[in-house]
Amino acid sequence: MIAGIVDTDGEIVVRDRLTTPARNVWPSLTQLVRRVLAANPSDVVPAAVGITCPGPIDRGTGAMKPVGMPLWHDFPLRRELAHVSGLPVDLDTAGRGLALAELWRGESSELAPVKQQMAALVLGDDVDGALVVNGKLAEGLTGNLGQFGHLIVEPDGTECACGAIGCLTVYAGAKGIEASTGRDLRRTPPAIIERTGIMVGRACASMAAMLDVADIVIGGVVPSVFGAPFFDALARELDQRSGLDHLGSLRVRGTESGRVGPLVAAAAIARHAEAGRTAEKADLPVGNQNN
Ligand SMILES: [Zn+2]
Repeated sequence: MIAGIVDTDGEIVVRDRLTTPARNVWPSLTQLVRRVLAANPSDVVPAAVGITCPGPIDRGTGAMKPVGMPLWHDFPLRRELAHVSGLPVDLDTAGRGLALAELWRGESSELAPVKQQMAALVLGDDVDGALVVNGKLAEGLTGNLGQFGHLIVEPDGTECACGAIGCLTVYAGAKGIEASTGRDLRRTPPAIIERTGIMVGRACASMAAMLDVADIVIGGVVPSVFGAPFFDALARELDQRSGLDHLGSLRVRGTESGRVGPLVAAAAIARHAEAGRTAEKADLPVGNQNN
């Protein structure tokens, strides 16, 4: 687990981490948050807390509901963390956090909204994603648009925790890769690195055809550990699988992790939610301002 304080320019002011324990995660997380708040320099006043977590998320209760992690499903994470921090708390998935960070601090931040047509993929423990249309994060019916980890890339493949067969997350998430090799991610054999690139290339071909995006931005621990051999295999597979002329200028790229890494992604979620709250207040009729 990593926690920190990020200023309004997206620079990390405080950074701290703890190894996630096998059980009783909440007391450790509480300890980490208190430590970070205590380390805060006096001239920076935190305004809100953002969290990235595995999705999907229940927007009503503020709980994360990741497949295969039922212990968290009934835990009101948003409320409990607001209690610990004394601040408004917002949570979103890693993929959606990356997209918001990219709009704030990444290459896409320089573009006009009409050019900000982007999909994001985070290959972390599991695979998560997001879609940006006209410079705005697309929400979907339940606020969970972007669960691209469950795109099917190998119809005769391995079963996923969601119950389907051959989901991307099984082949491109660190958990699935380590389960298939029996090794730490850093000791993944070259053939499996190549297979990971191929599977992500297949997913990108489908996503590009469906979504008509300019960029697919890929972050997370898997591409950062696998590096060039992964991106080379991805590019070859995408080239073979994608023949649509209008997608010729599609860019599939990694992230500048220093500018849009996990802490900036979490901060981007808080920043996005704060902007939403400010806009909501501004829209209220004058007589209702105190409600
Ligand atoms: Zn699945």
